Amino acid sequence: MINENKDSKNEFFIDSEDLDRLKNYQYPPIPEAEHCPYCNKKLSWKGLINPFDKNRIFSWFSIIDCDCEEYKKNKEQKRILEAEEKRAKEEHERKMAYQRKIEYLFKQSNISKRGMKRTFENYETNDENIRVFNMAKKYTDNWDKYKENGTGLIFIGKYGTRKNTSSFCNSEFITYSRCTCYLRNFYKLNGKIKRII
Ligand SMILES: [Zn+2]
Repeated sequence: MINENKDSKNEFFIDSEDLDRLKNYQYPPIPEAEHCPYCNKKLSWKGLINPFDKNRIFSWFSIIDCDCEEYKKNKEQKRILEAEEKRAKEEHERKMAYQRKIEYLFKQSNISKRGMKRTFENYETNDENIRVFNMAKKYTDNWDKYKENGTGLIFIGKYGTRKNTSSFCNSEFITYSRCTCYLRNFYKLNGKIKRII
């Protein structure tokens, strides 16, 4: 079957059934014929013309698509399926990379295993700690803004006001936002800053 698509008329390609044109070329043996699995039409091979020797066919490198509807439909379905598989694979790789990044950030954040279980969802509020809770929650709710202008949050207060719980919740949220978080009590953090300066 001589294929009428634009490739077969291209100066770089030739259809193996285009005998009129083929007689002007030297070429390697044409591979065994294949047939369309849907309409059984004989399918020709696409030959690549040697760009440095216009009278020679370099190779027969692929079957030329059949022009029947069933072939086109199946080819399109295959293309859609492959695109979906590629997208799913990329999505999976993206999630794995995110997971690795989060695990790394948690490891170097100094958040204890106990601390990792503390979230705003399971935070038990009462009259004593509601103020701290609201401050911590407000900080994470506006994290993008605080990150942008470099505003930090330090919890100072008496025992039992959930300073630690609040900082665990903040740290967890910040880490899941893919930002580096380093949890320390104020004295140790202060010492670390002094050493850096
Ligand atoms: Zn066909």
